[in-house]
Order: sequence, then C-alpha cells, then structure tokens
Amino acid sequence: MSTGHDVLDVVGIGIGPANLSLAALLAGQDSGLKVAFLDRKPRFGWHAGLMLPDVQMQVHYLKDLVTPVDPTSPYSFPAFMVDTKRFYRLLVSGRSKVPRREFEQYCRWAAERIPNLRFGVEVRDLTWNGELFVVRTDQGDLLARNVVSGTGLAPRLPSFASGHDPEQVFHASTLLDVPRKLQGRRIVVVGGGQSGAEVVHHLLTVPDRPASIVWGTSRTNLLPLDDSPFVDELFVPNYSRYFHSLPAKRRVELVEEQKMASDGISAGLLEAIYRRLYDLEVLEGEHRPCRTLLGHALTTVEKTPSGLLTRWMPNAGDEVGIEADVVICATGYRHGLPRPLYGLPSTLLAAMSGDDGEIAVRPDFSLDWDGPGDRRVFVQNAARHSFGVADPNLSLLAWRSATIANSVLGFERYPVAEVSTVLDWPPGSSDVALTH
Ligand SMILES: Cc1cc2nc3c(=O)[nH]c(=O)nc-3n(C[C@H](O)[C@H](O)[C@H](O)COP(=O)(O)OP(=O)(O)OC[C@H]3O[C@@H](n4cnc5c(N)ncnc54)[C@H](O)[C@@H]3O)c2cc1C
Repeated sequence: MSTGHDVLDVVGIGIGPANLSLAALLAGQDSGLKVAFLDRKPRFGWHAGLMLPDVQMQVHYLKDLVTPVDPTSPYSFPAFMVDTKRFYRLLVSGRSKVPRREFEQYCRWAAERIPNLRFGVEVRDLTWNGELFVVRTDQGDLLARNVVSGTGLAPRLPSFASGHDPEQVFHASTLLDVPRKLQGRRIVVVGGGQSGAEVVHHLLTVPDRPASIVWGTSRTNLLPLDDSPFVDELFVPNYSRYFHSLPAKRRVELVEEQKMASDGISAGLLEAIYRRLYDLEVLEGEHRPCRTLLGHALTTVEKTPSGLLTRWMPNAGDEVGIEADVVICATGYRHGLPRPLYGLPSTLLAAMSGDDGEIAVRPDFSLDWDGPGDRRVFVQNAARHSFGVADPNLSLLAWRSATIANSVLGFERYPVAEVSTVLDWPPGSSDVALTH
C-alpha cells in the first residue's frame, strides 16, 4: 500500500455494507476526490460466523447499497440480478427478502467492481496531527481530510462468559468460524432475539443434532419482529431526521420503546421453529428436544467435573440450575464508539454518552467538534441514540451514505430530503448543512 504523503479526501475504515454503499456512491463522480476504503479481511465477507444455510434477509432486496438514492447505479441489486442472469427467476420466486447468502454474494459482486477498495489492511488507530487525520494501519500511515468509520458492531459477551474455554462458551457470531463438536452434547442457547432463534432452528434441523437444547431468555416470550406497515415507517429518512431533532432523554426512551421493530424474531422463523418442535415431539415422539426458559436471566456459568453448570435467575421465584456442555451466547452487539477512534482528541469525543459510550453526531453523521469545518470524522452504524432503531439496519444504508457523500462533495448529488410517508413526522429541525 502506498504510504506516501498524498492526502486523501476520504478514508473509509471497514468495508461492510455501510462503507461499501458509500464507496459505490462516491465511485464515478467527476469530483476528483481521492478516496480509499480499507478492510482487514482478505476479501468481502458478511457475518460469516452466522451464515447458516437457511437464514433470510429481514429487509426488501431493493433496500440495497444504492437503489433508494440512485436507482440507475451499476451497483444495484437489480443490476446484480441481471448480470448473474437470475432476474426472472427472482421475480417468479415471488420473494421480496432474499437469502442472506445471496445478499453477501451481491455485496461481493459489487466489491469486485467498485474502485478504491483495499482488503487485507487493518486500521490500528486514528489520530489528528493538527491539520489532517492520520490513519495508522498495519501497512503504514495514510493522511486524510475526512474519515468515515464503518467498522460495524462488536459482539457483546456477558461477564458470565469470561474465563471459559472458547470451545465451550462462545458468542453466536463465531458459531461457524471453527469446526464445533455439538452432536450429542447438551447445549444452552442464551438470548431471545433473531440470532438466538436462528441458532436454535439450526440445532433442531441439522442431521447431527445435540442431545438436548435449552433456550433461555430474560424476555417474557419469544417476540416477533414488528415489521407491520406503520411501524415500518420508522425506517424512512423523515423519521430518522425527526428523531435526531428530539431531546436526548426522549431519544433514549424511544430506542427502548421501539426495540421490537429491530430486535424481534422474524415471524417466518418463529413458525418454522414451532412446526419443527411439533413434528419432533408429536410425530417423532421425542421428549422435549428444546426446553424454553422464558423470563430467566443467565447469571453465572461454572465449570464442574461433568461440564458446565448454568445458573438462571427467573423474573419471580427461585434460581434454576441447568447442566450443559456448551453455552452459545446470542447476546447481541455493543453499540458505541468504534475502536479505531479511541485515539481521537477529546474535543471530537466529548459528546459520548450512555452505558454503551454512544456518541452524539451531527445530522450529516459527522462527529461534532470545533476543528476545521472541512475536516470531519463520519460514523456509520454507530449512532443509534442519535438516529433511532434504523441506524444499525440496512433500510437506511443508502440514504445515510448519500447524506455523507453529499456532505463530502459539498453539494446535493443524491436526493436525501423528505420522502412521501403516511405518518406525519414534524419536519426535521436538523436539516443537513452542506459544508466544503
Ligand atoms: C448475523 C446478522 C444478520 C443481519 N441481518 C440483517 C438483515 O437482514 N437486515 C438488516 O437490516 N440488518 C441486518 N443486520 C444488521 C446490520 O445490517 C449488519 O450488521 C451490517 O453488516 C452492518 O454493516 P456495517 O458495514 O456497519 O458493519 P459490518 O458488516 O460489521 O462490517 C464492518 C467491517 O469493518 C471491518 N473492520 C472492523 N474493524 C476494522 C479495522 N480496525 N480495520 C479494518 N477493517 C475493520 C470488518 O472486517 C468488517 O468487514 C444483521 C446483523 C447480523 C449480525
């Protein structure tokens, strides 16, 4: 990698769907911008550790990297469908949500065509030299006027998991990363969201099934993702802008209130698990192939001569102890400051708040600071408490990238203003000011 003293206009850290979308929107502009996007992986990959055979997307395929803001882009999902000669078959299949494996294939196809992507480069940290940002990588330093962090969310591993053999207690996001011996073993899955449900469904359907499964959650039931029409309007630009203009306390309350719009389990997956349990118990005569512990919080995991003892505290009543061989933690992801940004000056990070170290960001997704107006650090997927439950979701991916692209370009290259909706959100008081 060239580590000369060329100054780049934009350096993107991480090439997941978020920065891939931005790279697609910045590609082919006549702006003369010098850009580079870096990822530590050798090539594009998307949540490989949880890419189970049957998993489906939770958003429509047209909410791709570019279509919502640039439907004629050569990097759209329809362009991928035409290029791979699947267009008619997809339409005949009648699906609006494609398998996750296909979304990854699409992103990889796009990554092979979008310029200025560099894989196999790890960003160590980001500092400010008084004039420019210094992006320190394992292959040298880069100087940048603007940096866009798109490093995704880090898996959240609860304290009960620490100190254990990672073959026995691990986060669900690493399930497929290494070969696992699960056949005939006693498995505990903790977490009542989409990942927990996907893992349980997988364990119930693989040919080499575990001896037993206990699925525990502190939630009071296995609750569905609420993607009904009016709730779905939380995932349009108007709402995100309106949300950004609300007082901080209200924003925190709303993220909690609207949890099931993003953290629930797909209805189709709940049905598939229910039917599988019906078949196994009623038709095959199996005794409790999966025991479900609702309203129970896993508090400790202890090593015993015969395996692990998991202790669960119910919402009411006495502690429950369950023996297991393996504990899979489907315990979600940590929101907040991306690790490479830890070295930034305190003026850039002064706006951190909340348990998760959430950062307050401007309407154009740049961190608020008192440095030069044309030197900015933008954050993708790191500001849920500023933009609402849509922030970690793919629905507004293209809109967020378009907002950042416009801000970097200094003019409205992509449409990011209000769109037609049924619900009337008061017009955002936080319209994006373009600076260059
Ligand atoms: C299993 C799973 C399924 C999901 N499915 C859906 C869905 O169907 N619909 C939906 O709307 N949302 C979904 N989400 C939520 C969200 O859309 C995804 O997490 C999405 O991948 C977020 O994109 P991202 O680009 O922000 O981060 P990521 O996809 O996590 O990409 C971050 C990239 O940054 C790189 N990176 C990190 N640190 C560094 C560094 N220091 N140097 C260099 N590179 C670095 C990583 O290698 C990675 O490639 C899902 C999330 C998960 C975990």
